[in-house]
This record gives sequence, C-alpha cells and structure tokens, in this order.
Amino acid sequence: MSQDIKQLNPRGLWSNFADLNAVPRASKREERVIQFIVDFGQRLGLDTSVDAVGNVLIKKPATPGMENRQTVVLQSHLDMVHQKNAATNFDFATEGIKMYVEADWVKAEGTTLGADNGIGVASIMAVLEATDIEHPALEALFTIDEETGMTGAKGLEAGWLSGDILLNLDTEDDDELTIGCAGGIDLTARGTYTPHAVVDLNEGARAYRLSIKGLSGGHSGMDIHKGLGNAYK
Ligand SMILES: [Zn+2]
Repeated sequence: MSQDIKQLNPRGLWSNFADLNAVPRASKREERVIQFIVDFGQRLGLDTSVDAVGNVLIKKPATPGMENRQTVVLQSHLDMVHQKNAATNFDFATEGIKMYVEADWVKAEGTTLGADNGIGVASIMAVLEATDIEHPALEALFTIDEETGMTGAKGLEAGWLSGDILLNLDTEDDDELTIGCAGGIDLTARGTYTPHAVVDLNEGARAYRLSIKGLSGGHSGMDIHKGLGNAYK
C-alpha cells in the first residue's frame, strides 16, 4: 500500500513522504519524528542539530560553482493534525498513516493524510539527499508544533539560521509565492453559563434523541466560507 506511494514520481519526494508518514507525529508529541529527521540528516553525513524546543536544522553545503550564492533556508513543520473518521479503528500513537492511490490522488484510509506539512518536509528531504540538483548552501529548518500554537517557530532562537532567504513550504497552492504574512493570534476565552434546570416530564410525555451527522468536515481556514452544514447551529 504505502509501497505503491514509494514508486510514484518524483521518487525522491514520494519515497520520503511514505517514510515520514510511517512515523506518528501529532503536534506536541513529536519526539519520534524529531529523531527520524535527525537520523536522516546524520545518515547523509550532514551537519544536523536540534534546538531547545525541538526544531531541527540540517545544513547542506552548496554544490560546486554555487558557493558564492546566498544561503537559502527551506522551512517546513514536522507535526500534523491527527484526526480519524468515527468508524475508523486507528491508533495514532503507534500506527503509520495508511495511504493508497486513487486515480490522480494520494489518500489516507479514514484518517488525515499528513500532507500538511508532510509534503513540505518530504520535498526538503528530497533536496537534501539529491546528488543531481544544483543549489546554494541550504539550511533545512523543520519546526515543531505548527498546528497547535507554533511553539517551535516562536521558540526559534535568533542567530541559529544564517540564510537571508527563507522559503516556507507550508502552503496550499503550488503556483503562488507568498512574500509576507500578517501573523496570527491565539486567544483563550473563558465564560460561565447556567445549565438549564432539570425538568420533570409530564405523564405520557415522550423524549427524543436527535442526531445530526454525516456533514462534510472542513478546514477552519480553507473552508470556513463554504456554508457547510454545522451540527452545532
Ligand atoms: Zn501546515
């Protein structure tokens, strides 16, 4: 199954994506994927380091003739959103994502696929291990916990990177370049509410349980405007 994915072209990308997706990597539980990417860098004989919060940096020297170009930082995030369908039996703590190919799409069996940002990570891995791609000095930056607080990006220490150009490979569109970011804000809201009093039913009254299910899921950022059904509403 994931073996099929490894055969897709470009091979370097899909093969690394399959290897990565075999490693559980929920946000805030990234120990295994950090080790995975550290092992990857060290296996290639590249300068590999981990900072205090768990971000990983792998440096690859410029290919011959590109030494005086500017260093480029390639960034992606290691964590993914672990979600599954209610009917799917799956243990994210121990199992790798089960992928399959359907027509032109790579899909996951009943779980999130981890393409966000696994494809970014796999792309960088492919460049790091390639021997046939010309490039300037590279700094591959793999941050943690993008999905639930960006504590990796926030914990990044000044001076750890030397490149002036940073390409963030975490985006939805492959034919656009984003040159800025308005940032984001997390907030914690607290409130109180009074639960409805318990009501005794009159003799002969009937109780019903209503379920609203089978609605389409979506991404809070990408699909919020589509007017999908909302069970809470
Ligand atoms: Zn992402």
